Parts: sequence; structure tokens; C-alpha cells
Amino acid sequence: MSDFVVALAGNPNVGKSTLFNALTGLKQHTGNWSGKTVECAEGKFEFCGKNFRVVDLPGIYSFYSDSAEEKAAKEYILSQRADMVIVVADASCLERNLNLCLQAMDMFDDVVLCLNFMDEAQKHGIGIDEKRLSDILGIPVICTSARQGEGVDKVREAAFDISENDLSINPFKAEIMHKGEEERSLGYMHLSEEICRSVCVKNNKGFEFQKKIDSIILSPKLGIPVIILFLTILFFITAKLANYPSQFLGFVFSLAGVKLSSILDVLKVSSAVKSLVLDGIYGTTSFVVSVMLPPMAVFFPLFTFLEECGFLPRIAFSLDGVFKKVNANGKQAITSMMALGCNAAAITNCRIIGTKRERFIAVLTNNFIPCNGRFPLIIVLSSVFIADGKGFLTALAVVGFLVLSVCIMILTSLFLSKTFLKGEVSSFVLELPPYRRPQIKKIVVRSILDRTVFVMGRSITAAMPAGALIWFLQNISADGTPLMLHIAHFFDAPARIMGLDGIILASFFIGFPANETVLPVIFMCMGGMNNVGEIADMGAFAAVLAQNGWTHITAVCTILFSICHFPCATALATIKKETRSFIYTAFAFFMPVAVGFMLCTIANFILNLF
Ligand code: GDP
Repeated sequence: MSDFVVALAGNPNVGKSTLFNALTGLKQHTGNWSGKTVECAEGKFEFCGKNFRVVDLPGIYSFYSDSAEEKAAKEYILSQRADMVIVVADASCLERNLNLCLQAMDMFDDVVLCLNFMDEAQKHGIGIDEKRLSDILGIPVICTSARQGEGVDKVREAAFDISENDLSINPFKAEIMHKGEEERSLGYMHLSEEICRSVCVKNNKGFEFQKKIDSIILSPKLGIPVIILFLTILFFITAKLANYPSQFLGFVFSLAGVKLSSILDVLKVSSAVKSLVLDGIYGTTSFVVSVMLPPMAVFFPLFTFLEECGFLPRIAFSLDGVFKKVNANGKQAITSMMALGCNAAAITNCRIIGTKRERFIAVLTNNFIPCNGRFPLIIVLSSVFIADGKGFLTALAVVGFLVLSVCIMILTSLFLSKTFLKGEVSSFVLELPPYRRPQIKKIVVRSILDRTVFVMGRSITAAMPAGALIWFLQNISADGTPLMLHIAHFFDAPARIMGLDGIILASFFIGFPANETVLPVIFMCMGGMNNVGEIADMGAFAAVLAQNGWTHITAVCTILFSICHFPCATALATIKKETRSFIYTAFAFFMPVAVGFMLCTIANFILNLF
């Protein structure tokens, strides 16, 4: 007998993924804002000898708007592939959630309403008469606190009951169906309001504290300074703490390097192969791990912490007005925040932006926000060349560069909205989830396993061939000169205008597969990999760069070009996938290079005046 299919629908952040995990025992990635769950996840459970297949639909606010998630969820429900739909609602803000439930009832017969977040509703003094709600709607209503696993069995029971009895009772359906679609939408909101008034008792006590915090964080005057303060603290902790594991890893890699060298001696490999393995592959990879990994391992848990407590959507809220002013969509603030993690993921999530014009603006400018692959370069060079190793100054410098990158993104969005992508700005609902106590276990799992290990795995995969390539370029000569020098010479003229040199500019191209490899490649090309243990020692690091002619100006221009250069291979492939246009993909490659060239040239000129 085929499985009974249960579709989970709901607004973003209502605990759908948590309920899905609790029902199926799976661990799917859960997100904190709209658009995270773009694909549908599937899992299974068994109850009373019957098999159920659960499909977790993307989080949406309505079945009647235009975004990819909304269309996907609607199509799935209308296709009748599901046998029942469970609408998961946040009990602490029932009115908005009920709207979606009524829409689902309009499209589908067997709907169950699951009131999740009952623990928070109670904490905030909200009581819901679920029996009355069930009578009014004519569908089963179940109360759960999915995070604590409470009520999950009742959901399984409801699925079982429906699979046995096929309850098709929708008193509203007949009333609603004879109205036109436009009128129906409106009708849902009034109905939701009316129903909520008759089933909810609120005293709002728990929200007072949240309102006080929001009055500061979201205020027009204080909002942006508060964001800058939080980011400075975040980067200060990252810069301070990352040093210690860096030194430790450098030490471990130098010991392991000695072991590897003796193993290669025992294996009697030729000196060229030994040098390729040790100086090329091992040297670059250990640089990536010991210098790039620690900032990520500190940054990601802190970033996930802010995400989990509900701070990040507030940053998006504060930046919303700015995006509207440049004729772009306010949701671009959300996708820009996500870019701090990974540009490719953020570009995919631009699907949350409904109109093509605004989505393309967000996709084409996303790369100006540095991702985690570029942050270690910005932190390390700021620390060594700008802040003289002082943690607080490093944090200020990094935040300064981040603010600059946001300004560049806003200006380029303005440029696009006045030229190639002209049009009207659309309106949307930005949900601010309540502040929530983050779960430490979830932060650790998501930041270390999902993010740090994943990103590190990708960087190591890119670092090993990059190390081998650099070794060949340094050791194979043409006309008596190593190939690397030919390449550096080729790039040298434009690079000098930009305050860089041929090696730095060439390294950005060699680092195209993954941004994490750019700094190690620069370092390798400068012959700085004699002692792997030294790479985590910032003094020795600065000395190698200084010997190669680096100054403060070189460091600033390298950081600026890191912010404004072509997207990495993964991000570029994602842009091609999302725009389905070779021309826009080429534009996404060349536009930041042009901006970077101008910016570095101006910075080089001005800094040289001093
Ligand atoms: P989704 O966007 O609907 O998939 O929501 P998630 O499952 O990602 O949940 C969003 C946040 O709410 C996560 O931090 C969950 O741990 C938390 N959460 C989910 N269900 C509950 C609940 O019943 N009570 C409380 N207090 N938190 C919950």
C-alpha cells in the first residue's frame, strides 16, 4: 500500500522544520527567515502500523503572491499529491497565521491546523480556545510545542485519523468559494481577525520587554549605530580569539610537516615530488586551515547566535528604507545579510524577491558583500597592516570595510535601477520574529557542522590543486623564467595602477574556485612557505609580505579588491542558474571588477598623497 502523504505548510519561522524533524526523526537544516527552506524536504514516519510520508513545503505568507516558494507550495497543494495538509501556525501571532490556513482550506479538503509555539503563547499571556477554533473552522486543531516535542504524537494521531476517516468538513469553503479571487483574499484577512477575536485571550504581558528593545534597535536614529556596534563586537571577538587556535594549528602543521617529510624520504620519492607535496600541496592546505579556519570557527557561532535570537531580521528591517530609496526591494537587505555567510546561498535566496527586476538587482549586487571566504583575508590584513595587531582597531577596520561594501552595493543597485533594470518598487511584508533564547546545541551543530566544516571542506578541496598549480607555475620555466613570473608580469601594469602587484592580481584569478585560497596563494607565490609553523605567527607573516614590497597601501587595496572583484566559481554558477542569462552572468563578472579597479585606483592615488 502506498504511503499516506502529509504536507506541512506554514509561514516562515513557525517551527515547521522543527515539527518535521520531530515527526520524522530527521535533521534537516532549519532557517530563521523567509526563503531558507527553498526546496521541499521529505521524510517518513510510521504510526499504528501505517506508513506516512511527510513533505515540508517552503515557508510562505500567502498562496496568492508571486515568489518562487509561494508558487511551488501552491502548485504542490493543487496537484493533489498530498493526502492531507497540516498548516503549522505560530500560536503567539495567530491572526496572520490563520490567514494562510483559510487559504489552504480553500484549496484542499483535508486540512489540520497545528498551533505550535504554545509554550511561548502561554509565556506571553495568550490563551487560545482550541476547541472553539476547531468548531468554527470545522477542522481538527492540535496544540504543540515542537521544540520540546510536546504534542507531536497528537499530530501523528490526527494524520492517522484522517487517513482512516477522510474528514472533508469545511463550512467556510462554500461561503468563500463563490467570491472572486481578489475579494477572497481580502476576505481571509477579515475572517482571520474575526475568528481570532472570538478564540484568543491576550494580556500581552511578555511582549513589553521585546517592544522596549525594538524601540531602540529599530528606531530610525539608533538602528544603524546599534548594528555597527554589534558587528564591531562580533569582529572584535573574532579577531581576538582566532589568534590562539591559529598559532596552535600552525604548530601542529609544522610537526606534521616534519613527519610527512620523513615518510616521503622513506618512500624514496624524488626531490621534485617531495617539494610538490610538501611546499605546494601541504603548504597551501595548511595555510588555509591554520589561518582561514580559526576566524570562521569563531565568527560562525557568533553569527548563528545573532541569527537564532532574531537579531538579523532586525538589521534587515533597519536597512529596508535605504533599499527602497534606491528603487530596490527591501528584502534585498535580508539576502545581503545572508551573503556574510555565503554569496552562492544568498543568491539562491534572492528568490524570495517577487519581481524579476528587483530580484536581478539583488542577484547582481550580492557579491559586494564579503562572504566568510573573504573575511579571514580582511581580518588578517587589517590586523597586520592597519591595526598593528590591536583587536579593537582590527574590529573597527573590518566593520569600516563592511559598511563600505554595503554602500557600494546600494550605489550599484541605484545605478542598475536607473539604467538596465528600471521600474517601480514593489511592497512586501517583512516579518520580525520575536526574540528567542537560542539553543546552544543548535548553534554548535549549525555553525560548526553545517557551516565551518562544510566551508572548510570546500576550501581544502580548492587549496590542494591550487597549491599544486602554484608549485608547477613556480618550477616550470619558459625562456629561463618561471611561468609564475611571466603571469605576474602580464598582470603587473594594471595591478600597479590599483596599488597591487602582478602576483596579487594573478592570485585573485588563481583563487577563482574559492575565495579562501587567495591569501594563501599570494603567500605561496612570495615564497613564504619555508616553515609552515611560521604562517600563524602574524609578525613573521607581515615580515614576508613586507619583504615583497607590501605597504599599508597594498593591504588596503588588496582588501578593497577582495570586496569588489568577480564572484567565485560557485557564486557565478549560481548567478547563471538564477538569471538563466549568459549576458547577466558576464555582467556579474565584469561589473565588480570595473568597480574594484576604480576604487583601488582612487584609494591608491589618495593614500599615496599622504
Ligand atoms: P520554520 O522556518 O518554520 O521551519 O521554523 P524552524 O523549525 O526553523 O523554527 C524556528 C525557531 O523556532 C527555531 O529556533 C526553533 O528551535 C524554534 N521553535 C520551533 N518550535 C518551537 C516551539 O514550539 N517553541 C519554541 N519556544 N521554539 C520553537
